[in-house]
Amino acid sequence: MHSLACASVVLLLGVMSFACRAETPAGCFNADVEAHVLEQFRIHGPLSRKREYFGFVYRIDGAIGSATTRGIVCRWTEPCEVNARRAAEKIPAGAKVVGEWHTHPHESGSVLLSASDVRGANDNRHIPCYRAFFSTSNGEILSWNPNAEAVPLAMATAQRLGNYRQARDGWANYAGGARRAVSQTPSQ
Ligand SMILES: [Zn+2]
Repeated sequence: MHSLACASVVLLLGVMSFACRAETPAGCFNADVEAHVLEQFRIHGPLSRKREYFGFVYRIDGAIGSATTRGIVCRWTEPCEVNARRAAEKIPAGAKVVGEWHTHPHESGSVLLSASDVRGANDNRHIPCYRAFFSTSNGEILSWNPNAEAVPLAMATAQRLGNYRQARDGWANYAGGARRAVSQTPSQ
């Protein structure tokens, strides 16, 4: 999915993580990162109807943020892609990158990782605390181990964090639009 930008992203992130490594060898703030990522999926999941959204997660000044971008409208006949370089360019100077997340579109999206998804995260596995998350076309939110080098191995490490369709303000709003449209149909 983001293989085109791999070389430059790896170079960029490699330099950043090297610059930050000496600073805080402390915890990886996994719970905080997961809470942030779930919020990102709650926001971007419902928007991901025909395109992917991607974010690099970073820590800066004790806060966690995401540098995000979105891909082109996906077509059934072509691989669905988003250029992660656009997200990398938005990472604030001095931030420590701790992971990535991306969505698969509801339409034409997959429930499985792609080879380039796995390769992209694997290329950043040297970054301390680096974690990878994606949401399936059904809204399932999964993490996988960036050390995995192939799709079956990566999917075997997948752990479910939730489903954004069940989030109170997430998919409910998206589905609510459809319900409203139906209820506006004049009755006979
Ligand atoms: Zn993907």
